[in-house]
Amino acid sequence: MSEINLLESVTAFLRRSHGHYINGVSILGQENETFSVVNPATGETIAMVNQGGENEVNQAMQAASTAFHGVWAETSPMERGNCLNRLADLLLKNSEQLAQLESLCSGKPIQLSRMLDVGASADYLRYFAGWSSKISGETLDVSLPSFKGEKYTAFTRREPIGVVVGIIPWNFSIMIAIWKLGAALTSGCTVVLKPSEYTPLTMLRVAELAKEAGIPDGVINIVNGSGAGVGTHLLTHPLCAKVTFTGSVPTGKLIGKSVMEHGLFRATLELGGKNAAAFLSDMPVEKIVDGVLEAGYMNQGQICAAAERFYIPSVHMDAVLKLLSERLSAMKIGSPLDETTEMGPLANKEHYEKILSLFEKARQEGSEIVYGGHALERKGFFVMPTVIRAKSADDTLMKEETFGPIGTFLSYDDEEELIAMMNATPFGLSASLWTNDLGKAMRMTSRIEAGILWINMHTFLDPAVPFGGVKSSGMGREFGSAFIEHYTELKSVIMRY
Ligand code: NAD
Repeated sequence: MSEINLLESVTAFLRRSHGHYINGVSILGQENETFSVVNPATGETIAMVNQGGENEVNQAMQAASTAFHGVWAETSPMERGNCLNRLADLLLKNSEQLAQLESLCSGKPIQLSRMLDVGASADYLRYFAGWSSKISGETLDVSLPSFKGEKYTAFTRREPIGVVVGIIPWNFSIMIAIWKLGAALTSGCTVVLKPSEYTPLTMLRVAELAKEAGIPDGVINIVNGSGAGVGTHLLTHPLCAKVTFTGSVPTGKLIGKSVMEHGLFRATLELGGKNAAAFLSDMPVEKIVDGVLEAGYMNQGQICAAAERFYIPSVHMDAVLKLLSERLSAMKIGSPLDETTEMGPLANKEHYEKILSLFEKARQEGSEIVYGGHALERKGFFVMPTVIRAKSADDTLMKEETFGPIGTFLSYDDEEELIAMMNATPFGLSASLWTNDLGKAMRMTSRIEAGILWINMHTFLDPAVPFGGVKSSGMGREFGSAFIEHYTELKSVIMRY
């Protein structure tokens, strides 16, 4: 057991009264209602947070609007980039504190919190910082002829869109918020973020660090509370210029509908999926099992891009399931604060109950539970990593997102049939193909319906490479240069002389 000690700054932070962060100040807000933050490894409450309401939303949106018009949109691109770089420095300086808070609230193994929620967040911030001085329009030649010898010139400008509302899920409470914050701030926009009610603490601390980094008051605001309450007030607020949402498909559809109804036509929706990983017959069994572990079980499967449907050549199926079960049985499940833990608890009680009901569903439908399929007998929200052999492509677990450590396996013999099965889903976030025949992989690439396709790898995101879903998995792209379109308006100017 190598359980780390909590830093004194972490216990002191948890003891504080928590609410919101508006206009450069931590505030408790005016609502009397509070909600608890539960450590999923123990089921115990570790902090209380004041629920936000219309009042806090109004204050935050007003602060963000004032900072946008008076300050941030006027700040030079270079200085905006410098601010983001300084925030990246401070994330790293406070790395252990942030990582411990993330693991306590979400159950993520501490090594992952350090690597992704802190380390990768700093990298994303630096990537976005570099863009601040490179967002520009173009000069254009007017195409129509002049009649009386007059001349024309035209150019476009990329102008920041305004106040961006960011709605964040619980699986990467810092990193996903940083994706939105980095894209917005480098473009000259200001933000109001609503963290998940399960993980409301980490961004309150990041907002304090942003102030230390010299980011002006009002540029970053955080309002905590429920989706139906705070979320709805934010989306319908007249100062909201754009919403960027990451979360489930049902909530994404609700948000999409709401923004259209309120005339807010700018929304980026990063939603869930039912991602496929397909192994071609040239892959040896050991490599297939390595790939399955990489694609499906990291962070207890609570990664939107993780694979949940695994297609295995029938000749390899039995051997793959046997070796995979052996490898999973050696996996260390335990406290997220133990540095040797490979798998922690599920992030919250509701999700744990959903996963248990899906195990039940698989049993009722007669799917074969090859490994796992039950909770662990210990406090907290722990379940076994699970392997299911599907009866057919119609099994619920081949169709519905579980967002848990459950791989469902189906064998195939024919590669045409494989592509048809991979695409037979309303979702299209990610997919992976595993083969040494790169020519074949390239030919299959254009036929697979997914926003991101990995070849011989899975779940690897990079700030330089656009990310987002097709079909019901969302609209819009984060990262690369693709984000610019979503955070700026393109203004055309034509001049006669
Ligand atoms: P969720 O949809 O339940 O909640 C996400 C956020 O939306 C939370 O902050 C919640 O409070 C808020 N919300 C809920 N109802 C709302 C409403 N009516 N109006 C406004 N806001 C509302 O998702 P979750 O359970 O937190 O996260 C898991 C889901 O997120 C999975 O489906 C996963 O695939 C998806 N996800 C997608 C990506 C991606 O980049 N595509 C990344 C991570 C997670």
